[in-house]
Amino acid sequence: MSTIVDITKLPMAYRCIGCDAEGVKLWRSYNLLLDDQTLKCRACSEVEQRVVRPYVGGDSIGWRIPAIPEDSGDFWLHKSAPDGAIAWWRALPEVDARKESS
Ligand SMILES: [Zn+2]
Repeated sequence: MSTIVDITKLPMAYRCIGCDAEGVKLWRSYNLLLDDQTLKCRACSEVEQRVVRPYVGGDSIGWRIPAIPEDSGDFWLHKSAPDGAIAWWRALPEVDARKESS
C-alpha cells in the first residue's frame, strides 16, 4: 500500500482558503460535495466553527473533518481513509512555516 498522497489530482489547491497556508493540515466540510468544498487550516477552521482550545475533538473541528485526498481526485470519506493516508495527514504541520514569524 502506498503511503504517498497525491494532492495534485484534487480540483483545488491543497491550501487554506482563509489565510493561504500551504503544506499544513487542512480540514474540509463534512457535508459538502467536491464542487462546493472548501479547505481550511486549523486556525481558520476554529474561527469558523467557533471551537476554542483546549481542543479535545479528535481530528474533527466542528463540522470540519480531515481533508485527506484519495487517488481519484476526491477526498476520503470520514474515517474511511487507509492508515497510510491518515498518517500522511497527521504528519503535516498545523502552521505554515512561512507564516510562523507573524
Ligand atoms: Zn487558514
